[in-house]
Order: sequence, then structure tokens, then C-alpha cells
Amino acid sequence: MSVRVRYAPSPTGEPHVGNIRAALFNWLLARHEGGTFILRIEDTDQARIVPGALEAIFDSLRWLGLDWDEGPDVGGPHAPYFQSQRLEHYHQASERLIAADNAYRCYCSPERLKEMRAEQIRHKVPPKYDRRCLKLSPGERREREAQGIPPVVRFKTPLSGQTTFHDLVRGNVTFENDTLDDFVLLKSDGFPTYHLANVVDDHLMGITHILRGDEWLSSTPRHVLMYQAFGWQPPVFAHLPMILGPDRAKLSKRHGDTSILQYRDKGFLPHALFNFLGLLGWSLDDKTELISRQDFVRHFSLERIVKSPAIFNMDKVTWMNGVYIRELEPDELTEQLAPFLEEHLPTDIPRPIDRPYLQRIVPLVQERIKRLDEATDLTDFFFREGELTYPTGDLLGKRFAHEPQQAAEALTAVRERIAALDRWDEEALEGAIRPLAAELGLKTGELFGAIRVAVTGRTAAPPLFQTMAVLERERCLERLGTAIARL
Ligand code: GLU
Repeated sequence: MSVRVRYAPSPTGEPHVGNIRAALFNWLLARHEGGTFILRIEDTDQARIVPGALEAIFDSLRWLGLDWDEGPDVGGPHAPYFQSQRLEHYHQASERLIAADNAYRCYCSPERLKEMRAEQIRHKVPPKYDRRCLKLSPGERREREAQGIPPVVRFKTPLSGQTTFHDLVRGNVTFENDTLDDFVLLKSDGFPTYHLANVVDDHLMGITHILRGDEWLSSTPRHVLMYQAFGWQPPVFAHLPMILGPDRAKLSKRHGDTSILQYRDKGFLPHALFNFLGLLGWSLDDKTELISRQDFVRHFSLERIVKSPAIFNMDKVTWMNGVYIRELEPDELTEQLAPFLEEHLPTDIPRPIDRPYLQRIVPLVQERIKRLDEATDLTDFFFREGELTYPTGDLLGKRFAHEPQQAAEALTAVRERIAALDRWDEEALEGAIRPLAAELGLKTGELFGAIRVAVTGRTAAPPLFQTMAVLERERCLERLGTAIARL
């Protein structure tokens, strides 16, 4: 039997890193097994739908390279893949359960349910539906119908006993049935709840394995009871371990649990995030950290999903991203950086950015950035046309703090010496400037520091001579001239 798995997000916001991990694991299982990866949009809770969320789901999956074989836009044999367009399936399923006495209509008003609950809490019994509508006589039911009260449909959960299912990650899991309540299947607006729509679609779409976050574990006994009531074979369940912050608290925004698109916008590479997320609850051999996409697909197995919570560590994903940045071919990095810089560089810098020029800058920053957005600050001076802004004090540093005249003389000497160079490259520049420090009675660091600020506007920048080589003669001489004038 070929593997069919699904990612079933609700369009209630941009997918977060914790949530998209489920998509990744399902995708990996499908690709490893040569199976089918399905995208299904669970949009039945109409009140919680957020505009733009659907596009964010598509963008996040595409950015990570998680392509789907069936789903909205691509279609497939079980279309439509939006639950809001599949209501008749849920209605049919609900009728079937009612006919078999596994479900019933409930007309209780929200006020009555609230009172019932309060009463139960007062008597210290676990709140659950008291089955008043299960016991309605045909006459009482007709009366309520005639009043036009829109009913909900509730599942008739066994009152006693246990429901046990096998989970690939956790082993056998058992729930007491009397804790499960007669949960709602169909709401009074005719839309299904998560439980009904999810089970019906997983069955109709032939889903073989359900890989989802641990937070859904408590829904599973309800689903298992529904599969039994329908007489359907349930899929294999694998609940992925919880994701915690390094402090072992529930993952939250402060740990970096933000939208996947924010990671993209901050300059994370999709391959790095893929690698990082793939290790949140799965391991190749307990030690290998850097795993390529191909190797994930080759080696992914359900047996190696770990039970213990996965730790989401921002330092680790950032480190990993730096590694992936360094591994890029310089022209690939140029391609990645260009749109990034065009978006983030100060607005007075002209667009588009000259690609061949950027290509020469790339080797200077490749080793120094862990995120693409860090390149903006490191490189803006390469692109600036007019004067650089920096405090004159930076030009002076400690050495020239009270001697601006001396700094001006030193920079003038530098300017004259390099203006006359035949070749303008790193070696020639170093050959000209390094000996000059001794001639002027300065330490190299003191002289280089002043030159660095003059040509880059910064006290810290990529290596000086390489930087000057890329900046070209004209720009360097002009910037030195401006610095001298300021002094
Ligand atoms: N719609 C649920 C979600 O938003 C699906 C959970 C499941 O995989 O069953 O994650």
C-alpha cells in the first residue's frame, strides 16, 4: 500500500516554525517512501479564518521546498481540498452516524449548557454534556424542530470503558471514555468541527499515516471511536514530540517560535531551516547535525522519531544558517543577497544593485554573516554614492584624539601614495600602505583604523585592503579627500 500523508493547516495565521515541522515530517515520509503528500486546508472554523493566511501557508511551504502532490491549486482525485467546500461529505457522514445510533441531534441553548456546566462544577463533577437531548421523546424532538432551533450533532461516546490506540512514537495510549464527553460533530451553522471533518477527510482521501504534533494526542481517542463507529480502518498515528524552548518551557515567541516567513525575511536560507526543523524530533544517529535535503529524504524513517521533547534553540538555527551561507557558491550567494539588499539598504542608495559589483563584495562578507540581513550593515558603504556619515571622532580614534592635524597629514600621505599606484588590487594597496605606517611613526592599527573609517564610515568592516580594492580607486580617493577636509 503506498503511503499517503497530509498537512492539514487551518488558515488562522501564518504558519509558525513549530507547526510547519509537521508538514516537513509528512513530506519527508512521502518522499522517502515514494508516496503522496497532500495539502488540505481545514477552514471549517469560519470565525477564525485570517485574511492572507492561505497565501502564507503556500509561501511557507514553497519557500521550504515542500511541494504537494494533491491540494488546492494542483487538484487531485479527492478535490476539493478546502474543507469549506466539502460540507456535503460531513453531512452525509453525520447522518450515517445518527442512523446507526452513534450520534444524535442536540437542541440545547448555549445558556442551558453554561448553566449545566456551572452546576457540575459546583458539584465537583467533571463538566460534560448531560445527554438531555439523547433522551428526547419523538414528540419533544418534533416540538424543537417546529420551533426552528438549529441543532448541533453530538457523538454518542461510550459512557464507560477505555479507548486504546497504538502510536508509533508513544506506544499504546489509553484514555478513559468517561473523560471524552459527547463532543460536537456538526455545529448549528452546518459546519463540521475539526473532529468530524478531519476523520472523514482522512478516510475519504485514503490517508495512511497521520504525523502531527503532540498537542493533538487528546483528540485521537475521539477519532478512534469515530473510526470504529463508521467501521473504517484508522490510519497509523505518530504524534511528534513537543517542541520546547532551551529553558524547557512551552515554545513561544520569545524562543523564536515566529512565522516561517519571518525567518525568510530575516535572511535565513530555506535549506538551513529545513535541516534545523528536520532535527526537531528526528535524528539520523544522535550526533550528525548537518544533513542535506537529499540525505533527509534518503534516511527518513518513522522509527527514528524521538519520544522526548525537542529543544528549539535559536543559537543553533543561526549557527546552522551561517554554515549554509558559507557553503553557497559566491554567485549563488550574490543571487540570494541582491533582492535582500535591494529591500533593506537605505532608500537613498540607488537600485537595482549592480550584480557584478555585488559579486566582488560577496567574498568579503560570506564568512562574516550568519543571516542574510546582516549583510546590509556590512555592505551599505560599498553602494553609497554621496558622502558617508560618521562622527569625526571615529576618524581620530584614540591615537589622534587630540591631533586632528596629524590624522589629516597621515591620510594625505596615504592618498598620495595610493593615487600613484599602477595596479589597484589588494596586494598593491597593502604594499603601499603598510610601510607607510612605519614611515609616519604610527602603528599599523592606528593608521589602518583611520583609513577604514574614511573609506567605509565604520570602525569595523571587512578586511581593509580587499575592501579598498573592491571600492575602486576613484571612490577611495574621494572618500579620503572628504575625511581630510573634515579633519
Ligand atoms: N487543522 C489541524 C491543524 O491546524 C490539523 C491537525 C491534524 O493534523 O490533525 O493543525
